[in-house]
Amino acid sequence: MLYDAHLHAGMFPDIGATVGCALNSSITPVPVGIYLQESQNTLKVLEKSFPSIPVFVGIHPWYMSEHPFDEELFNSLLTSPQVKGIGECGLDNKIDVPLDKQIELLEQHLEAAVKHDLPVNLHIRGYHGELIRVLKKYKGTLRGVVHNFTFSYEVAKNYLDLGMYLSVGSHIIKASQKMINVLNAVGVEHLVLETDADFLHTGEYAPDLLKKSYKSLGSILNLSADNIEHLVEVNIKNLLRI
Ligand SMILES: [Zn+2]
Repeated sequence: MLYDAHLHAGMFPDIGATVGCALNSSITPVPVGIYLQESQNTLKVLEKSFPSIPVFVGIHPWYMSEHPFDEELFNSLLTSPQVKGIGECGLDNKIDVPLDKQIELLEQHLEAAVKHDLPVNLHIRGYHGELIRVLKKYKGTLRGVVHNFTFSYEVAKNYLDLGMYLSVGSHIIKASQKMINVLNAVGVEHLVLETDADFLHTGEYAPDLLKKSYKSLGSILNLSADNIEHLVEVNIKNLLRI
């Protein structure tokens, strides 16, 4: 089974059809949230039609001003057995929200992840030093994945030392030599693959994109298709504890 480790199913006009499309192509999607009402809506749809799909709930920093944290709703979402993780949450240096406000929200997610023993799905743009500093407080108690991994090995090493997985998007299909070197230095045991499809920027779900990413990762790491499929599945299952 292939896994799409980061899909914004809730942003598609038809959540069920999007998840169904992935499953029909032998892909298990991992839907991630952008704000709590959206996460709730995704969960409602999937609880009925696809109860075995693991769902992440949370607030993406881009949406935090419009959709502030609601502790009661957050806690009620976390009671669903279908919720297998928290996020997408994180830090972004290109948005008009002060860093301390972003960190405050991020820590609300991280505290809940530790309390409920769930992995986090992390968004990071720019603020690597700040994110790593926050994550270090939770070292040994928090597990998770840093999504859209495009950075240097020096930065990646900090996340690996904190036990984080790194999720690679479809830019791997045309990977630069630098990216190829970084992926080899990181090693397959720390990697998962994602589309980050959200309809808004990507259009309808394209299963082939994820399949091409798997193929590219295999050739970059010199591993057979079966091998890469198996190894990424082991990582995902370890992350989600499924
Ligand atoms: Zn995302």
